[in-house]
Amino acid sequence: MVVGDFPVEVDTLIIGSGPGGYVAAIRAAQLGQKVTIVERDYVGGVCLNVGCIPSKALIEAGHRYHNATNSDDMGISVGDVKLDFTKVQEWKGSVVDKLTGGVEGLLKGNNVELVRGEAYFMDDSTAKIMDDKSSQTYKFNNCIIATGSRPIELPKFKFIEGKVMSSTGALKLDKVPEKMLVIGGGYIGVELGSAYADLGAEVTILEGTKQILPGFEKQMSQLVSKRLKNKGVTIKTEAFAQEMEETDNGVKVTAEIKGKNEDFEADVLLVTVGRKPNTDELGLEQAGIEVDDKGLVKIDKQCRTSASNIYAIGDIVQGPALAHKASYEAKVAAEAISGQPTEIDYTAIPEVVFSGPELAQVGLTEAQAKDEGYDVVASKFPFQANGRALSLNDSEGFMKMVTRKEDGLVLGVQIAGHNASDMISEACVAIEAGMTAEDLALTIHAHPSLGEITMETAEVAIGHPVHIVK
Ligand SMILES: Cc1cc2nc3c(=O)[nH]c(=O)nc-3n(C[C@H](O)[C@H](O)[C@H](O)COP(=O)(O)OP(=O)(O)OC[C@H]3O[C@@H](n4cnc5c(N)ncnc54)[C@H](O)[C@@H]3O)c2cc1C
Repeated sequence: MVVGDFPVEVDTLIIGSGPGGYVAAIRAAQLGQKVTIVERDYVGGVCLNVGCIPSKALIEAGHRYHNATNSDDMGISVGDVKLDFTKVQEWKGSVVDKLTGGVEGLLKGNNVELVRGEAYFMDDSTAKIMDDKSSQTYKFNNCIIATGSRPIELPKFKFIEGKVMSSTGALKLDKVPEKMLVIGGGYIGVELGSAYADLGAEVTILEGTKQILPGFEKQMSQLVSKRLKNKGVTIKTEAFAQEMEETDNGVKVTAEIKGKNEDFEADVLLVTVGRKPNTDELGLEQAGIEVDDKGLVKIDKQCRTSASNIYAIGDIVQGPALAHKASYEAKVAAEAISGQPTEIDYTAIPEVVFSGPELAQVGLTEAQAKDEGYDVVASKFPFQANGRALSLNDSEGFMKMVTRKEDGLVLGVQIAGHNASDMISEACVAIEAGMTAEDLALTIHAHPSLGEITMETAEVAIGHPVHIVK
C-alpha cells in the first residue's frame, strides 16, 4: 500500500468483499464505474469463507457418511465405513478456495481494483484504509458499505479456543467432537448441529422459544425435529442457558428448562444466538451515517444512507441476513449510483434451511396473508404422492401454497422436503411475475421430478388435484 499524505482519488469505493460487496463491485464496473474494493480479511466475505459454502460442504459430507451407513432399506449394506475428517476438511477448503479464487478472478476481469486493509470513514468523502504497517487516505465520489456481520458473543459464554465457539470455530474443528452442545436452534445451529450428528457426534440443541427454527411454521420445524431426534439429537425447547463452567474435557452448561435447572456436559459448545452488524468500528458518525438501535444502517429504497453518496447493503441493513439478499441489494445500490431508476422490493426473497428435510419459504405464510387482510386459500401436497420423492427414498414433507381466493394469485409458498432449496426458485418466479395457481398448474413439469409438486399443489389450489383425493 502506498503511504502518503495525498489522498488516492477513486470513483466508487466498496467496503467489504462478501456477497454484497463483490457483486456491487462487479455490477458497478459493468455500468461503467471505476471501482475500488477494500477487504480487511478474506475475499468472498463470510458466505464463501466461513458461512454458506463451508457449512453446505460439511452438511453434504455428513449426508454421504450417514447414507453410506443407513441405506439397508434400499438393499445397500457396506462393511467398514471410515470417516477421515482431516480429508473432509481439506475437501471443504478446496471448495472454498475455488470459489474465492473465482471471485478474485471476476473482480480482476471487470477491472475492479482490490485493496487489502481496513476502511474507516474520516468524513462523507474520505476514508482511511489501514493495514498492519500503513495507512492511506482515499477520496471517493460514491461509496457502498458492505461490511457484513459477526457472531454475537454472550457475556457468560465467552469463546474459548477449541471449546466454546461460534459457527466459524465449529466449521474448522479438526475432529468430530464426541459431544456437542448447541445454544440456539436457529438455522445456523440446526444446520451445523445436524451436520455433526450425521458425522457421528452426540448433539444437544438448547432453544429458548417453543420450537427450533422459530421463523418457520410449526409443522415444518416439527419434521426437522423428528428427523434430528431419529438421528439421536436431543432437542430442548424453552431452554435458557444460564452458566458455563470449564471442565478438563470441555464445558458444563447449566440451563433453565421450563423452570428447572439441568446440566449438560460437552467437549464442544457452539453458541449460535445471532449475529451483530459490523457497523461499530467504521467511523460512520464522522460520515454522518445514521444507524438504528440495533446498529443497522438506515437506508432508503435505493440503499442510500443518510449521507447521499454513501450506500449500505447486506447484513448491516434491515431484513433477513442472507447472502442472496445482500447480492440483490448490491445490484440495486450499484444501479442507483449509476443513475438507474431502481429500488428494493423484498416480496420474493426466499429463506432456506439446509436441514433434513430442507425447509424453504418465500412470500407470505397463511397467517401473514390473513394478517395483511387477504382472503386466502392454503393448499397442500405431500411429497409421499410424488414418484420422484419415493424413488429418492426421501418422501417426507409437503408443499403449502397460499393463494388469493378471488383470483388464485400466488402470495406465498412453504416447502419442507428433499431439495426444497432448489424447488423454491419456481415459487420465487411465480410471486415475482404475479402468477396465479392456474398459471403454475398449466405449466408442463417434467416427470418424474420434485418440480411436479409445485404443479400439483397449484392444482389443489384450483380445486382439481390429480394425484391426491380431494
Ligand atoms: C455458518 C453460516 C452459514 C450461512 N449460511 C447461509 C446460507 O446457506 N445462505 C445464505 O443466504 N446465507 C447464509 N449465511 C449468511 C451469509 O453468510 C451472510 O448473509 C452474507 O455473507 C452477508 O453478506 P455481506 O456481503 O453483507 O457481508 P459478509 O459476507 O459478512 O462480508 C463482509 C466483508 O466485509 C469485510 N469488512 C468488514 N469491515 C471492514 C472494514 N472496515 N474494512 C474492510 N473490510 C471490512 C469483512 O472482512 C467481510 O469479508 C450464513 C452465515 C453463517 C455464519
